[in-house]
Formats: sequence, structure tokens, C-alpha cells
Amino acid sequence: MQTRADRLAGLGTTIFAEMTALAERTGAINLGQGFPDTDGPAAVIDAAVAALPGGANQYAPLPGVPDLREAIRRHQRERYGLEPEEVLVTFGATEAVAAAILGLTNPGDAVILFEPYYDSYGACLALAGASRSVVTLRPPDFALDPDALRAAVARTGGRARVLLWNSPHNPTGRVFDRAELQAVAEVCVEHDLVCVSDEVYEHLVFAGEHIPPATLPGMAERTLTISSVGKSFSFTGWKIGWCSGPAELVRAVRTVKQFLTFAGGTPLQHAAAAALGLGAAPLERLRAELRANRDTLAAALAAAGFDAIVPAGTYFINADVGADAARFCVELPERCGVVAIPTSAFYDDREAGASLVRFAFCKRPEVIAEAASRLAGLRR
Ligand code: PMP
Ligand code: GLN
Repeated sequence: MQTRADRLAGLGTTIFAEMTALAERTGAINLGQGFPDTDGPAAVIDAAVAALPGGANQYAPLPGVPDLREAIRRHQRERYGLEPEEVLVTFGATEAVAAAILGLTNPGDAVILFEPYYDSYGACLALAGASRSVVTLRPPDFALDPDALRAAVARTGGRARVLLWNSPHNPTGRVFDRAELQAVAEVCVEHDLVCVSDEVYEHLVFAGEHIPPATLPGMAERTLTISSVGKSFSFTGWKIGWCSGPAELVRAVRTVKQFLTFAGGTPLQHAAAAALGLGAAPLERLRAELRANRDTLAAALAAAGFDAIVPAGTYFINADVGADAARFCVELPERCGVVAIPTSAFYDDREAGASLVRFAFCKRPEVIAEAASRLAGLRR
């Protein structure tokens, strides 16, 4: 009998684990799965170490420890002028997205997705019994076409409840602009959609600005804003995330979260509060290092004869390799000792990203330099 797990396994991509295993097997440089190869700020690690013998080892309060919740509120206020009614700490952004979809949809409801999309999104919808109506973002600019968005909503025949948004966007690196955000806001207001906004790359922006949907007119009351400590502070393994927004939306997430995991990671929650309290300096440092890595890799990909799509945000760069991306990625370790990910894995419409390859540049500058020199030697 086919179980739900069997169906899920066919839905999400196993590409991250597969490509990391390929890198381990071949000794290639792993620019596939996106995680940094250096830890975040020492002061944050010190805060975690201090919290361990400090009596912070039991369940956290379900909404999260008060100092982290306050730090999240301050961050939203000072950075974006937002005053969310409620804040909830989660097991990474992943749990916030999953609990939001489970808590805010009924079986048979539809969710608006933008492809290529992060793999957990499709699986969360399947868990919830929701269907997806997909807007395709196409290379090289991955621009959002408002007509395509309206068509995706229309296709649901009135069943759309949630629009699942992600900017800065994985895997394209797009930072959507104000006009695109405006189109999203108009559609959400017009069709009474809840916007679940995954902003885990909010601080990894090199050009333009990150605009939280909640800051647009009519959106604060219908937007659940999600982020985490993983990308902003290079602690992807901590899985301390959060969501904030209207009380009713956060309550829905909290109710599901209570029965998925209740509340944990207590010492790391205190450390995450310390991270958010560090101010702009570490974020600026990370951004500068990533920007330099991005430029090194873009130059190498161009030298190899590929059309590199230089991203405004995240730590992913895509290149059109002019060949089948999946096959290219399987062969790449042997050809030049680098692992990357076929962007087609994030599309329902495999044709749309068939020759696109995603490279993660969140590695030490010397690792990126070595990968760049290996890639630059490739010829189509
Ligand atoms: N959303 C997106 C778009 C991501 O790229 C990631 C990173 N894997 C996540 C969510 C997961 O974030 P976290 O590690 O905080 O669960
Ligand atoms: N967000 C990272 C990526 O897109 C890691 C994803 C994962 O390992 N699940 O590469």
C-alpha cells in the first residue's frame, strides 16, 4: 500500500541530500546544498554556551522565550516599521511554513505558489491536502507577471486561501521590487488571501531593498512574516525561526506547532536573541563577503561560457549551461570537482528551468576562489 510518506517522497526533491552525498563521495567542492562553511558570530556562540549552564534547559514557553520574542519585535519595528500583534518562535522557518499551511488551509483549498519554489512548500501543501496553483518565473529575469498571477488565482475557481511568497527568492536570487510587491498585495486584498511570507534571506541583499509584504497597504492584517537565524547569522543547524503578524494568523500556527513539536531549543533561543541584538555590523560583514563571492563565481561562470544570472540577493547564483541541467550536475564533479544543483528540481514545469544550474556561494572566499578556477576551466 502506498503511504503518505511514499507520496511525499515523490513530491519534494531529494536533490539536497543527493548532491551533498555526491560531493562527499567524489571529494568535490559542494556548492549544491546551501549552508555556510563557517560559523556565525562568536558572541552568539558565547551566548549559547552561557545559556547552557544558566538554567535554560527545560521547555521554552510555547510562544518562545520572552527575550527572543522581544528581540524579534524590535527587529521588525526598527528595520521595517512593523508592529506585529503576535510573535511565535518555531523550529526554523521550515516549521513556521509547515504549521502555517496546515493551520491556515482546509483540505481542498488552493495555495498560490511561485515556481521555482523551495521544496518543502509542495510537500507542506500535500500534507495539508491543499492544491497548488503555480505562477512560473522564467529566466533570465524571473520577473513576476501580474497577469500570470491573476490567472493562477482564477484557475483555482475561488478556492485560493493562501499566497506563499518568498523574497529574496530561493533558488533564483531575485529580490522582488516594489511594483511586483504591489501586484501581490493587490491580488491578496482583492481575493482576500492570506500572505505567508518566507523572508529567511531578508538580510542577504546586494542590490535593491528587501520589502516585506506586511509593509504594503492592506497587507499587515493579512500577512504572516517568517524568518530565522539560519541564513542571517550562519547558524543553519540551530533551526531557530519565527513568525509574526496578526494574532489570528500567529495563533493558527501556534496551535499546529504545539502538537508538532511544542517548544524547544531553549538555550539557542536565548542565543538567537543575542544575535538579533548585535545590530548591523555582522550582517554587513556577511553581506560584503557574500557579494565578493558572488562576483568571483559570476566571473568564472562567464569565463566558462555560461550565461550567469547575477542575483540581487540570497547566496545562490544561477547559470544557463545550455544543456540538460540534471545531467550536467551529475557529470560536473567528474568534469571539474564541483557540485551544483539543477534548478529544474524546483520547477513543476521542468522545461522552464531545464538548462539552469544553481551554485551556492556561502563558502569561505578561498573555497569559492578554488571552485571558480575549476569552473572557469570548463568549456561547453
Ligand atoms: N525557506 C527557504 C526559501 C529556504 O531557502 C530555507 C533554507 N533551507 C528555509 C526556508 C529553511 O529555513 P530554516 O533552516 O530556518 O528552517
Ligand atoms: N536552503 C538550502 C538550499 O536551498 C538548504 C535546503 C535543505 O537542505 N533542505 O540549498
